[in-house]
Amino acid sequence: MAVLWLEEISADDLETVGGKGASLGELTGAGLPVPPGFVVTAGTYRSFIEEANIDEELFAAVDVDVDDSSALADAAERAQELILETPFPDDLREEIVESYREVGDGEAFVAVRSSATAEDLPDASFAGQQETFLNVTEENLLDRVRECWASLFTQRAIYYRQEQGFDHSAVNIAVVVQQMVDAEKSGVMFTSHPSTGDPTMIIEAAWGLGEAVVSGAVSPDNYVVERDDRSVDVTVAEKKVMHVKDEETGTTVEREVPQDKRNARVIDDAEIDALLDLGERVEDHYDEPQDVEWAIVDGDVYMLQSRPITTIDDAGEGYDPGESDAEATAGLTDGSGSVQAAEAGSAAEPEQTGEVIVDGLGSSPGTVSGEARIVTKLDDLAKVGEGDIIVTEMTMPDMVPAMKRAAGIITDEGGMTSHAAIVSRELGVPAIVGTTNATTVLEDGQVVTLDGDKGSVLEGQVVEPEEEAEPVEEVRPKSPVKPMTATEVKVNVSIPEAAERAAATGADGVGLLRTEHMILSLNQTPEKFIEENGADAYTKELIDGIRGVADEFYPRPVRVRTLDAPTDEFRQLEGGEDEPAEHNPMLGYRGIRRSLDRPDVFAHELEAFRRLYEMGYDNVEIMFPLVNDADDVYRARQLLTESGIDPEKRKWGIMVETPASALAIEEMAAAGIDFASFGTNDLTQYTLAVDRNNENVADRFDELHPSVLRLIGDVIETCREHDVDTSICGQAGSKPEMVQFLVNEGISSISANIDAVRDVQHEVKRVEQKLLLDSVR
Ligand code: PEP
Ligand code: MG
Repeated sequence: MAVLWLEEISADDLETVGGKGASLGELTGAGLPVPPGFVVTAGTYRSFIEEANIDEELFAAVDVDVDDSSALADAAERAQELILETPFPDDLREEIVESYREVGDGEAFVAVRSSATAEDLPDASFAGQQETFLNVTEENLLDRVRECWASLFTQRAIYYRQEQGFDHSAVNIAVVVQQMVDAEKSGVMFTSHPSTGDPTMIIEAAWGLGEAVVSGAVSPDNYVVERDDRSVDVTVAEKKVMHVKDEETGTTVEREVPQDKRNARVIDDAEIDALLDLGERVEDHYDEPQDVEWAIVDGDVYMLQSRPITTIDDAGEGYDPGESDAEATAGLTDGSGSVQAAEAGSAAEPEQTGEVIVDGLGSSPGTVSGEARIVTKLDDLAKVGEGDIIVTEMTMPDMVPAMKRAAGIITDEGGMTSHAAIVSRELGVPAIVGTTNATTVLEDGQVVTLDGDKGSVLEGQVVEPEEEAEPVEEVRPKSPVKPMTATEVKVNVSIPEAAERAAATGADGVGLLRTEHMILSLNQTPEKFIEENGADAYTKELIDGIRGVADEFYPRPVRVRTLDAPTDEFRQLEGGEDEPAEHNPMLGYRGIRRSLDRPDVFAHELEAFRRLYEMGYDNVEIMFPLVNDADDVYRARQLLTESGIDPEKRKWGIMVETPASALAIEEMAAAGIDFASFGTNDLTQYTLAVDRNNENVADRFDELHPSVLRLIGDVIETCREHDVDTSICGQAGSKPEMVQFLVNEGISSISANIDAVRDVQHEVKRVEQKLLLDSVR
């Protein structure tokens, strides 16, 4: 059998039908809406080259030094010629044509796509490396099949395979022949975030056939959908062109998008819902995040392709809890609010002083500075040197060698799934796509800084040269594939230097960033530091510390707590002699009490937040510690406003750390807080009257005490009624028993220690699944 029908194929047939074919067969079998078709198997390609005796010559022809561009060009030409000029044996010709006639009664327009096979194919993205032909009919079907085979030997395919370490003779190619859906709209969907693995679906959509999106010919609309509550963030792009079937010739042509559709949103909420359902079904089916191509015709959604997202790092490459438990926990407070040993070794954060001159979609993370090289034609690639930044309308597969030596990539067009985005992520090169104007605004040779997380290009060299020299992998947050949970799992950070490791856990954000370390490490009390260095220097210290973490997590939220150090810690610093001598500092002058008492000093702290917002760190949230009642909250809110921070626009909230605050939660909700976070270290000590630092009563320090749990449960219930998010950021959030209790109560997020994040993610998932099961049983 030279062909297999999609319904005969499953994932186990990978070696026979290639990645695409196996995936389509598997999807068909799973009852997903896949257009009908068949696969010309990889074995058919093999027997074609072997029976014609061209195999040995073929593999010898491509055994060249791929960095020698003329040798590479000659090799590709010879290999393709060998395949394209070899005639089909009659029986094979007949079998393929007969099969085609069964699809759509012989009148169908079909898509003919190559489907490569290699042992570890599921781990590699062959984006743009093989052929796709649309609207093919019987007349040219066989030629297209042969062209797919030959596409295994284009210059870029040979180069890419060699670089990825694939043996040419071990890679086979199958060809999928599938009925075309005459798409009115189409696009791609990542069932989880392609860079971070977060439970966020990203859908890109454009008018007409999907090729325009995949090839980057249009900048598609971008829909970011949170899977838990299905909230959608829409960015409507200007879509100038679309790919459609020409009614007369049946070929795929590029047409201008009619004026009224150019800036119109492509998919509506119902279509997003339908796509989300499909995305969830397909992710469940494969049990891992997928990159899906889809199309819509007459309101029906079809799936054209699905493959695993290859760009989410796996746990082995990301954070290894076994390796660094001690370091990871170093710096978390020891229960007294005091900060222990500092960590060292992470890169310093760049000075972000440049002005944003171009922005687009951050599609491959990392920040680099370099000289812009405007590439308008392939010849321009020669001028791209190591460390340069390629600026081009859109990248093409032939640009891969240059993309590899570039420090960064910026394109005018394309979305998160365009060639530039996929390949740059896989190469580990920071990239921004879909800027619309980079090639006209930026000048050849101009020094710029590219921030691939935020999608902004800044003027000038904003990254220090020694940082540029560091391998990108080492300074980039890595996100392991993590369990998808409806309850967010965040991480606590006490030392900005730990941010990279914290981000590598794949946490949904920072649930508590303590600022004490940033201040205490100055070795002077805030008042003394301001007196000697000026208020601006104080504000800047905070900005630098917070920004390090906010950058690392962007766009994931970072909840920053205003200063909460007890006087006994300040007393040890220069200027500490002016601190009040307190009998019980834990019950004393700390947290919001001190801040409200010294609004003159607090103002410089809030100024740091104001300036961070001004710089674009919209992921920063503000949290007030040790509030007791609504009066504290109203006063803190007033100081926010006086500092030029709009409490309506920014996310801010409080810690629930005293029984008083738990009992006053309804009034505090009325004061406009966005969230309440349980500081169980303090809530436990104050509820049980057990000093958290006193070893004589340490055995009575029990965060799971029924009275503590009752306060927490009541607060969660009240907050749910008032639409206030709830979270925990005390140490107890890392304990499985507490996690079980909180998820059952309906908490919005749990923030755990770095080393506990992974376990908490699993525990949350387990409890959520049990809740679901219980609800249907
Ligand atoms: C808490 O009280 O639980 C908390 C997180 O704050 P800290 O430990 O810094 O007092
Ligand atoms: Mg506390």
